[in-house]
Amino acid sequence: MSRTRLLVAIVVAVAVAGFFAAGGHRYFTFENVKAQQAALQSWHDSHPVRTALAFFAVYVAVTGLSLPGAALLTLAAGAVFGLLWGTLIVSFASSLGATVAFLASRFVLRDWVRREFGERLKPIDEGIAREGGFYLFTLRLLPVVPFFLINLALGMTAMRAATFYWVSQLGMLAGTIVYVNAGTQLAAIQSPSDILSPGLIGAFVLLGFFPLIAKKLVDAVKARRVYARWTRPAKFDRNLVVIGAGSAGLVSAYIAAAVRASVTLVEKHRMGGDCLNTGCVPSKALIKSARVLSLIKRSREFGIRSANAEFDFAEVMERVQRVVKAVEPHDSVERYTQLGVECVQGEARIISPWAVEIKRGEQRTVLTTRAIVIAAGSRPLVPPIPGIGEIGALTSDTVWALRRLPERLVVLGGGPIGCELAQAFARFGSKVTQVEMLPRILPREDAEVSGMLMQRFRDEGIEVLVQHKAKEITIQDSRKILVAEHAGGEKRVEFDALLCAVGRVGNTAGYGLEELGIPVTKARTVETNEYLQTRYPNIYACGDVAGPYQFTHTASHQAWFAAVNALFGGLKKFRADYSVIPWATFTDPEVARVGLNELEARERNIPHEVTVYGIDDLDRAIAEGEAHGMVKVLTVPGKDRILGATIVGEQAAELIVEFIAAMKHGIGLNKILGTIHIYPTLAEANKYAAGAWKKAHAPQGLLRKVERFHAWMRG
Ligand SMILES: Cc1cc2nc3c(=O)[nH]c(=O)nc-3n(C[C@H](O)[C@H](O)[C@H](O)COP(=O)(O)OP(=O)(O)OC[C@H]3O[C@@H](n4cnc5c(N)ncnc54)[C@H](O)[C@@H]3O)c2cc1C
Repeated sequence: MSRTRLLVAIVVAVAVAGFFAAGGHRYFTFENVKAQQAALQSWHDSHPVRTALAFFAVYVAVTGLSLPGAALLTLAAGAVFGLLWGTLIVSFASSLGATVAFLASRFVLRDWVRREFGERLKPIDEGIAREGGFYLFTLRLLPVVPFFLINLALGMTAMRAATFYWVSQLGMLAGTIVYVNAGTQLAAIQSPSDILSPGLIGAFVLLGFFPLIAKKLVDAVKARRVYARWTRPAKFDRNLVVIGAGSAGLVSAYIAAAVRASVTLVEKHRMGGDCLNTGCVPSKALIKSARVLSLIKRSREFGIRSANAEFDFAEVMERVQRVVKAVEPHDSVERYTQLGVECVQGEARIISPWAVEIKRGEQRTVLTTRAIVIAAGSRPLVPPIPGIGEIGALTSDTVWALRRLPERLVVLGGGPIGCELAQAFARFGSKVTQVEMLPRILPREDAEVSGMLMQRFRDEGIEVLVQHKAKEITIQDSRKILVAEHAGGEKRVEFDALLCAVGRVGNTAGYGLEELGIPVTKARTVETNEYLQTRYPNIYACGDVAGPYQFTHTASHQAWFAAVNALFGGLKKFRADYSVIPWATFTDPEVARVGLNELEARERNIPHEVTVYGIDDLDRAIAEGEAHGMVKVLTVPGKDRILGATIVGEQAAELIVEFIAAMKHGIGLNKILGTIHIYPTLAEANKYAAGAWKKAHAPQGLLRKVERFHAWMRG
């Protein structure tokens, strides 16, 4: 805790202790207020303004310091100042005092709470940002919830102070009027409990829930308005129609079929979508062949004097297609039909919130459905660089058709796809130049992670040009040249083929979103709420088309929420849970991450500790000839709680799973350290990282005592 925070905490504690030590609590009794009523009245009669100001100050101090007595002061206000002035004074003083307590609690405790609860606080903060005002209003109206507790508890959340102030003032007004009014009749009241009859408490409770009920009603009215121009069918052909049979669509349809819903899955192109046909599967197959070549090249390192690889790039690409074919049955029409999904080949178009038209050649059919899941995926973004249209730029969609290895390849983009393909092509023998406009490749990862990969790429002969912005592509005497801006100058790179890997954009056009008025975000994804609902509550979106992540595993994770909410949302809806999201870049070395890295922790101002274990020291990695990389873990300072982990090295994507499971199930580094890891494995790196953390947190005082004990035992 900082010195100023400590000082504030001490001042508050001393003030509270002083209040009790001076017997202040004895003045704040019902009997005393009644007994002092006449004296208070006479002060007020002789100095009305001064009395009002003094009373206001006392009220703010009592509530600001969370001292008992606010209710009695409110009664006194009624007795002395009457209903109107009493209400005005108390209303402002109590709101101000509450805000002082709220701010003090925030100043002293918020950082501690953030440290203690880390990422788990995020959903609460998001909930507060969304509906905090409603909840506060309800709490303020419920006389059973102590006033000071609300102030202190909400101070620890991310609620805005201005919202807290005005909602408190509004929420407390009814209770204030009741108490001040009772104060005007002070003589007739025997005890404070006479003020709140069970009927009145019941009325407050109803009033408290009113805003929440009103919100639900407003939501329902909004939904009705969205549907107003459409005619709802009396009956539906299907429970669910899913558009797109990629990772997101397949899982949505599968879940629907598993719970015996009638579901149709529409795919206009190939079952399996990007992941199977142009993404994860072919890229990993290509990377494997490239890896084999790289190992052959390194044969001397493994004690093999000579090993030569003879290969034909076309055969490598044929193998890639064989791998796709081998995986294809997992996503096939046959498999999904067997699972109970109706699979339709055709182009889907949403023609009303409850109807999807499917076009197959000239044939058009319309299916009515209770709910729709949009899982239309994404496509590579080709930036509008002058000249790019003339050179037939490759993308992750088209690169798989190559059968001749480009001699000189420019890879535009330093993200995961660009990095994976740049290294693979370089290993086959292309002279690869990777062009990235940011200062480093894999810019979302920590700087040293990018540094390790960049170093490896350069060692393998890839020219990595960072801070180079592609400006134009020209053709001079049939030579293709990329012109990039760099440090005020120009860099010209001659190439035979250019692969564009600068990002992917959601498929949001041409299938009815425009006609239905379903909004698209700035990131060019379908706009959804936390339940993955679009503007029409019965139309959902998931996967790349919905964002914010673009991975197969996040697409299928979201698909569960979209399908379950689409089918059962009337009973219970689930918020898509993004609390533990992992991913990997399958370069060599691999880069895998779950949760926060240092960059994000700093950007989001999240207190953290960093533990790093270098894999160069790991027995198995040494035996494998892969002694490089690191395990980097972020934890809550002084706590055994993992905020995130990054692994760079051989099999990093496999190793990270231990941290994914740990974060998902709230397991800390102590537990990882206490788990037997098979020797010798790469997974031991996780245990050693946990060991490094443990060592840094060893109880030094206790160890000194134990040392003395051992010395004493030796005599
Ligand atoms: C080169 C590359 C490598 C990748 N590697 C990995 C990796 O290693 N790990 C990982 O997790 N992710 C990886 N990804 C990302 C992964 O492929 C995507 O995140 C995933 O495929 C998204 O699935 P989806 O279902 O949202 O979309 P998609 O797989 O794109 O599926 C959408 C489907 O919808 C269909 N469709 C669209 N509109 C209509 C319509 N109107 N009617 C009917 N059908 C329609 C499309 O034809 C498509 O088949 C990689 C991507 C690429 C490009």
